[in-house]
Amino acid sequence: MNIAMIGSSYVGLVSGACLADFGHRVVCVDKDQAKIEALRQGRIPIYEPGLDQVVADNVKAGRLSFTGDLKEGVAQADVIFVAVGTPSRRGDGHADMSFVEAAARELAEVVRPETVIVIKSTVPVGTSDKVEHILLTHNPTLEVSVASNPEFLREGSAIADFKRPDRIIVGVNDERGRAALSEVYRPLYLNRSPVLFTSRRTAELTKYAANAFLAMKVTFINEIADLCEKAGADVQDVARGIGLDNRIGAKFLHAGPGYGGSCFPKDTTALIRIAQDFESPMRLIEATVAVNETRRRAMSRKIAAAVGGDLRDRTVALLGVTFKPNTDDIREAPALAIVQALQDAGAQIRLYDPAGMDAARTAITGVTFGNSPYEIAEGADVLVIVTEWEEFRALDFKTLKQVMKSPCLVDLRNVYRREDLARHGFRYFSIGRPDHD
Ligand code: NAD
Repeated sequence: MNIAMIGSSYVGLVSGACLADFGHRVVCVDKDQAKIEALRQGRIPIYEPGLDQVVADNVKAGRLSFTGDLKEGVAQADVIFVAVGTPSRRGDGHADMSFVEAAARELAEVVRPETVIVIKSTVPVGTSDKVEHILLTHNPTLEVSVASNPEFLREGSAIADFKRPDRIIVGVNDERGRAALSEVYRPLYLNRSPVLFTSRRTAELTKYAANAFLAMKVTFINEIADLCEKAGADVQDVARGIGLDNRIGAKFLHAGPGYGGSCFPKDTTALIRIAQDFESPMRLIEATVAVNETRRRAMSRKIAAAVGGDLRDRTVALLGVTFKPNTDDIREAPALAIVQALQDAGAQIRLYDPAGMDAARTAITGVTFGNSPYEIAEGADVLVIVTEWEEFRALDFKTLKQVMKSPCLVDLRNVYRREDLARHGFRYFSIGRPDHD
């Protein structure tokens, strides 16, 4: 099939490259000329493990190309995916639909009349109807079919997630859309990935429901972790104890500094607004968002406690700024709120991240950046693991002890065990686990 992907970032570029890998011919379109130029020169504008190879292979095979020209990009397309951003709208937390709506207006002028247009972006219920309306208002001669196909890939494991998804949700209101998307995803039938056909509204809501549920699950275990700290219990064991129950499941039960990233924060607030508009409030999600908001700053109090309560003129070395490992994405990362809270309390911050330094340099000021954990640890009062990158899982504590002002580790991801750190002469603080015997 001939496919066009509008928006070529974390979702569009990965989806486009993987669809090309399935054998389709894909043109990735983006308004950002620098991105297109980089891609044409063989450079990948985002950090996503394995993506460079999939892109290179498919460019070489002639199945994947890039353009900044929408008209050129959709000229041959049977199916057009819209994977543009839907960030939080400033002020009210609704999803900002301006990129999707602009893409629809632009498409109305250039698509072939019978194209199938698929909304892959995460969008509020009713967006497919709205996009259809925009297309027909701008070009009444169109006979396009609009479908909803929300994406569930995770940054950091995006290729595997796209190629072997737990499920594919396809919202269609007509046979043409259904047939086109069956054809797009036919290669996945071999992997037995279930394709769930639903109405467009159901598909749109399914995406928000999934993210809200996961955000709620993480927040639940975070609150249990707080209780464990007060009650002298161990959240790792509680998580294992409940996770082995199939009705609960073991995933997303890792206590930490609160959820962040490019999806959970904006999608939970958007769902709250959508639900309010339908006069069907989501109180559990409202509570989830409120709990998570306070949690990130609360982490700075934990760090303060580790150095005796006062952060003024203390040097804090932070390991990790991205919202999770294996990405360069720092959107809504807990580290950002933690840095702010630490600075407010008067601390000097040093920071290192394996892939997020470029993004961090543009987003954070007043911080000293270093090139390794050991460089930032020099003279520090406390070392803090914020993101659980692989390279932070086997730190050389002998060296760290030599270079730090005092050996103290705050482990916001529960990567280590207290006994091991005690052996190295470190004071150790983690999440939801007893700090002492
Ligand atoms: P992003 O903001 O990183 O990228 C969007 C891209 O679209 C940018 O490169 C931008 O230049 C381009 N763009 C905007 N308007 C355009 C237009 N009219 N024509 C061409 N290009 C245009 O977004 P993302 O993280 O890739 O996410 C895209 C969508 O997928 C969002 O709705 C998001 O919620 C959803 N989603 C994201 C993830 C994730 O892990 N990032 C996972 C699942 C779903």
